[in-house]
Formats: sequence, structure tokens, C-alpha cells
Amino acid sequence: MATVIQADTELHVHLEGSMEPELLCRLDSTLTLEEARGLYRFDSFAGFIEAFKGAVRRLQTPEHYAMAASALFDSLAGQGVRYAEVIFSAGVVEWKRQSLDEVWGALREASGQAPLTVRWNVDVVRQFGGEPAERVAKWAVRHGGEGIVSFGIGGDETSRAAGEFARAVAIAKEGGLKFTPHAGETSNAENVWEMVRMGADRIGHGIRAVSDPSLLRELRDRGIALEVCPTSNVRTGAVRSLAEHPLRALFEAGVMVTLNSDDPGIFGCTLAGEFEAAQGMGFSEQELSQMAENARRSAFGL
Ligand SMILES: [Zn+2]
Repeated sequence: MATVIQADTELHVHLEGSMEPELLCRLDSTLTLEEARGLYRFDSFAGFIEAFKGAVRRLQTPEHYAMAASALFDSLAGQGVRYAEVIFSAGVVEWKRQSLDEVWGALREASGQAPLTVRWNVDVVRQFGGEPAERVAKWAVRHGGEGIVSFGIGGDETSRAAGEFARAVAIAKEGGLKFTPHAGETSNAENVWEMVRMGADRIGHGIRAVSDPSLLRELRDRGIALEVCPTSNVRTGAVRSLAEHPLRALFEAGVMVTLNSDDPGIFGCTLAGEFEAAQGMGFSEQELSQMAENARRSAFGL
């Protein structure tokens, strides 16, 4: 099915999850294509986290990061995307004991040559806790003028209490960055509430908000967009099937819903494909256009 509208804005795509199996093999010559494809085969959220870690491990040098970024930018531009906010997991760079400044230098250079407008969401890993998050938040604020527009929290949202990240979030927001945490992907509406109370400007996923009418009203009234990633949700097991996906209910509740690809390399998906999926779920051309417009209106760097 051909997509009926041109999606031109991507707000939730992970650099580390964007790498195709072929690129992993170029980065790691000991890896066969079959092994790389096998890495991306999983049937649970825990399996997905392992695949993500397997991809991250192949990014050994700043040049590797630049290669991943350039491949992603070319792919997005090839689909007609003109503006992207790319999530960069600074937390895992520290964890791998690589130089964040050197990796960032390579990414900054790559984004300067990109065939589309690129902004960055610097992400920390929830499992690692609040202290590394504060360090990353300070670093992100220092580099805020270099295309970094927001601070996020990714990883396993059930692993650590939201309160552990209060200081990191305050540092980021006082430093002029937006706050875009993952929440309500695999857990519950309360997790989304916690992030809204901490000042979330957008929510990564947020699909569990569907179970709480008062939360839906809050998101709608405050214009807090949800970065919804339907294919990702099915592949990680967050929802059983597209037919059971709450996208329609979120949209009908008046929430600012956007469509995104999340980890296109791992899931084998594209932004255009997410719009095709929504079309297959019964969304009209006008409704798809509305979601594309929501993304433009919720972008931080436009
Ligand atoms: Zn994500």
C-alpha cells in the first residue's frame, strides 16, 4: 500500500537503533550478515534491549558514530524527511568509556553535512540511575548551542524511580533544553504522569496513557505530544498487534499524536512505513496529514 501523504518530520529515531545489519558488518568485520540479522530477531522487550546493546557495542570509534549518522540521514532524506530529531544515547558512550566529546565532534560534523535539518535529543539510560544522568545533563547543556535541543531518558522504565532523575531534569531544563523522556511504553499510565509532573515537553511512546482519561485530558490540554512508534510497539511486544494498538483511542482523545520509526535498523521499518501502517489501521488521509502536522508543530528546532 502506497502512503497517501508525505511525512517530512521525524521526532523519535535512535541513532544506535537505526543501523541496518549490513552496516553492523561494516563496523565489525568479525560479524557475519546472518549473525547481524540474528541479533535483530527477538520476541520480547528484554530481547529488544539485548539487540540494541549488540548494535551499540559495534560503535567503537567516533568514525563509527559518524558512519551510522550519515547512513541514517541519507535514509531519512531518501524518504523525503526534511527535519529529524535524532536520539543519541550519551549514557552508553560514557558506559563504554569512550570520549563523549570526540563522539559528539564526529556527530556534529556529520549533521552539518546532512541533506536534511538535524537536531539532537541527548538520552540517558534509566537503568544507570540519576548520578550519570546528571553528568550527561550538564554536558548536554554545555553543548546546547550545537544542535542539541532536548534531554531524554530511555531504557527500561521499570528499573529506577523517576525521582532519581529530578536533578538531571532540572539541570537540563534550567539550561534551556526540552525534556523528552520515554514513558508509558511497557509500564503504565502512572509512569507517564510522573514524567509530566517532572516537566516533560513530549513523551516517547506514552501509549499506556490510554488507560487514564484524566491523563489523556492533561496531555491534550497542555499540548504534550506523544511520539508513537507502532511497528516498534508490536516488535517489542508492548502491544500484541497493530489491530490492538491504542493509536486510534489516543488520537480520538485529542492528544497530539505523532508517528515515528524509533529504531528503523533493528525493526526494518521506515517513517513512511509507519504512516502506511496507520493507513492500514483505518486512518484517513486527513487524519494522517493531521499527525504529520502534529510532528511539525511539536518539533523543538523548527
Ligand atoms: Zn525510543
